[in-house]
Amino acid sequence: MTAEIIDGKKIAEEIKNEVKRDVERMRASKGIVPGLAVILVGDNPASQSYVRSKGKACEEAGMYSVTERLPVDTPEYVLLEKIARFNTDPKIHGLLVQLPLPKHISEDEVIRAIDPRKDVDGFHPVNIGKLVIGQDTFKSATPAGIQELLIRSGNDPAGKHVVIVGRSNIVGKPVANMLLQKQKGANAVVTIAHTGAPDLRPYIKSADILIAAIGKPEFIKGEMLKEGAVVIDVGINRVEDSSLPKGYRIVGDVHFESASKVAKAITPVPGGVGLMTIAMLLKNTIKAANQLS
Ligand code: NDP
Repeated sequence: MTAEIIDGKKIAEEIKNEVKRDVERMRASKGIVPGLAVILVGDNPASQSYVRSKGKACEEAGMYSVTERLPVDTPEYVLLEKIARFNTDPKIHGLLVQLPLPKHISEDEVIRAIDPRKDVDGFHPVNIGKLVIGQDTFKSATPAGIQELLIRSGNDPAGKHVVIVGRSNIVGKPVANMLLQKQKGANAVVTIAHTGAPDLRPYIKSADILIAAIGKPEFIKGEMLKEGAVVIDVGINRVEDSSLPKGYRIVGDVHFESASKVAKAITPVPGGVGLMTIAMLLKNTIKAANQLS
C-alpha cells in the first residue's frame, strides 16, 4: 500500500481563499475590515518568523494587521497594558501574544488578560472550558487545522478510534476535546497516550486515525501502525543533515517512508499540519469580527 498524501498546502490555500471572500463580503455588507493584532516579546527567531508569516497572511487576505514588537526585557505590566489597549481597540477583532514568553512574564497572566471574545488562539481558560463542554468557541488553530485536514481529505473521524500521542495544552488535549464532541466532523472514540503509558505500541496499533504530537523525530515507525490507518503528523523537528546547505532538515514525529507503506493516508512534514495553523487563525479572526460587529 502507498498512502495517499493529505496535502496541507492545498487545503490551507482553499481556506485562505474562503477567508478572502469572507473579508470582501464583510467589507461590502458591514463596512468592517477584520483586524488581527499580534504582540511579540523578544527576538526568538522562530517566533519572529511565525509573526511575519501571520502578518503577511493577513495582508494577502485583505485583513487589517498590527504587529507590536516589544524588547525581551519588557516588564509584565507593560505587556498587560498593551493587551488592555488592544482589548478595547475597535479596529482589532483578534488578539494574540506569541508564545513562548521570556521567563519573567507569566504566560497564564497574559493569556487571562486577553478579552476572550478576541482570543483567536483559543488559549483563554473561558474558551478552553467552552471547548470541553462542546459550546461554540475559538478552536485553537493547530488542533482546528488537524480536524479540518481530516474532514476535507475525506477522513471523517466520526465513529473511528483516534489515538493521539501527546497531551500538551496546545495540541494533544484540545484536539482530543474537539474530536470527541457529539458534533459534525467529530464524534470519534478518542484515546490520549503519553509517557505514562508503559507501552505505547498497543495504543498506536489500535488507531484508525493516529495523531502524533510528541516532538521526537521519526518516533513512530510504519510497523507500529494498523494497516490502513490515517496518520496526522504534527511534529516539527530539526535533524542534522550535512548534505544540505543549511545543515539540517525538518522531519515529523512519524517515520514518513515506512509509515506511508502501511497507512491509507498521511500528512507530510513539511507540507501538512504546519501550513494549516495560520489559515485557521485567519478563520478565527473572521469569526471574532462577525461576533463583535
Ligand atoms: P510538548 O513537548 O508540549 O508535548 C509533547 C507530548 O508528547 C507530551 O504530552 C509528552 O508526554 C509526549 N511524549 C513525549 N515523548 C514521549 C514518549 N517517548 N512516549 C509517549 N509520549 C511522549 O509538545 P507540543 O504538543 O507543543 O508539540 C508536539 C510537536 O508538534 C512538536 O514537534 C512541535 O514542534 C509540533 N507542533 C507543531 C505545530 C504546527 O504545526 N503548527 C504547532 C505546535 C506544535 P508527557 O506529557 O507525559 O511528558
